[in-house]
Amino acid sequence: MLTGKNLIAGEWRNGAAQFTAVEAASGAALEPAFAQGSAQDVADACAAAAAAQPLYAALPLSQRAAFLRSMAAKIDALGDTLTQRAMLESGLPEARLNGERGRTVGQLRLFAEEVENGGWQGLRIDHAQPDRAPLPKPDLRMRKIPVGPVAVFGASNFPLAFSVAGGDTASALAAGCCVVVKGHPAHPGTSELVAGAILAAIHEAGLPEGVFSLVNGTENALGEALVKDPRIAAVGFTGSRAGGLALMGHAAARPVPIPVYAEMSSVNPVVLMPARMEEAAEALGNAYVGSLSLGAGQFCTNPGIVLAIESAATTRFIATVAEALAAIPAQTMLTPGIQSAYAKGIAAIAGHGATLVGTGAEGSGTCGRAQVFTVSGTDFRANPALGHEVFGPSSIIVTCADMDEVAAILAGMEGQLTTTLHMAPGDYPAARDLMPILEGLAGRIIANAWPTGVEVTHAMVHGGPFPATSDGRSTSVGTLAIDRFLRPVSYQDLPAALLPKALLDGPSTVLRRVDGRFETQG
Ligand code: NAP
Repeated sequence: MLTGKNLIAGEWRNGAAQFTAVEAASGAALEPAFAQGSAQDVADACAAAAAAQPLYAALPLSQRAAFLRSMAAKIDALGDTLTQRAMLESGLPEARLNGERGRTVGQLRLFAEEVENGGWQGLRIDHAQPDRAPLPKPDLRMRKIPVGPVAVFGASNFPLAFSVAGGDTASALAAGCCVVVKGHPAHPGTSELVAGAILAAIHEAGLPEGVFSLVNGTENALGEALVKDPRIAAVGFTGSRAGGLALMGHAAARPVPIPVYAEMSSVNPVVLMPARMEEAAEALGNAYVGSLSLGAGQFCTNPGIVLAIESAATTRFIATVAEALAAIPAQTMLTPGIQSAYAKGIAAIAGHGATLVGTGAEGSGTCGRAQVFTVSGTDFRANPALGHEVFGPSSIIVTCADMDEVAAILAGMEGQLTTTLHMAPGDYPAARDLMPILEGLAGRIIANAWPTGVEVTHAMVHGGPFPATSDGRSTSVGTLAIDRFLRPVSYQDLPAALLPKALLDGPSTVLRRVDGRFETQG
């Protein structure tokens, strides 16, 4: 069924050079070979996106929403074909990928609702006051409009929910932006299947084919060309810190710089507070091992650092962790590159004086073995490298002298996607003292749960200060993600004949701020 071709504005296009995907579990080459995208493919995709942009941006919101729903239905209809290909390419299990397909189509449908709701346009009307002294006040009306074509880099660790039709693509299309995807080279077959579903939805909606393109390839030069293309207005990326920083550099060095929304690295510190530790050391130990080893630890919200106070309960916790780890099987990692980066990261932790608490079962070549280390708070602070993300099923337990040391460690950490407190009521006063530090540290603060697992809702923030993301004012999950691809425009004293309909006086079904007050009139 797969062609191995790139999708450039409706045209399935071959390439002069090819690459092959590999089966994650065995490292064996998979059929068919895939075309390496070229600079010409990128230029053509961006030109078509720019040409389609005015029409797509002007589409009535009900039609934009219908397009997103049609995408969801067509991706869902790929069913087992999609799951089986994604399993081969990513090594992720069937249940996880079926769940991820559900999340992918669920978030497209949520964005469809959001588009129809219209509140994201941030509509504001400030009526004129011609008699104001000493100067008259003009009539000002504001709405947010799409920034223009968006480049999306598919993530390796979410081949569906954060790849071709994932959160970045869904939020960009919802905002009214055409999209050019640089597919992740680890799952080109999965990418092609999803791109085919998007093309079918484009045809069904009667949209210009430039609304969406997919370029695959294994060379940095391809992504670089995409970010540097003058028609691209913003970038969405999930991956390594090095990759995100490189793309930010290219975007900033353009004659017209553009924003890059990169989600890069996070160790998601979890604090096990003393009263909670006292009452639940064993339960916490088992749940922690479950969380850090889920999906071979290949989650951006993996609990990479756990902070606890030295005590008999913490000793029990560590013993439980060692025991629970022994039962964790080795799991296939996403790519050979990610597996070797994990092995290097583990060696670096050991080289910085951390002691091994326990390991999971050892596996064959493509597997990652779960490993947990421990280190004192003093040694952790003396070795800043221990605070860097190691992508995979590993974590470090930092044993601290007291809550002051916990606070000092948290205050010294880099920006994070999440931070978590496990606490009993007796811990609340100390937890309250930590809150300002936690708010400064992370995009999401979690109580009494483990950070793996991200709900796609209106109040979700999957973001955080650098290096968790390149722009801590944004989220890449949830409906607020749409805001990254919008730009406010103010209309001063424009006649009604030239104003957007949504900004005309009279009843509105969309929430608007009129003369400072929030209003909905039905
Ligand atoms: P990656 O190496 O950053 O690659 C992600 C995408 O960016 C790929 O399409 C890659 O394509 C492109 N890219 C990377 N560097 C580039 C550059 N300098 N210029 C232009 N394009 C570039 O991420 P990965 O392959 O998914 O995994 C590698 C490591 O990233 C992992 O070991 C892990 O440490 C980290 N990672 C973190 C998360 C997280 O959520 N925190 C998620 C996934 C990965 P090409 O290679 O074809 O250019």
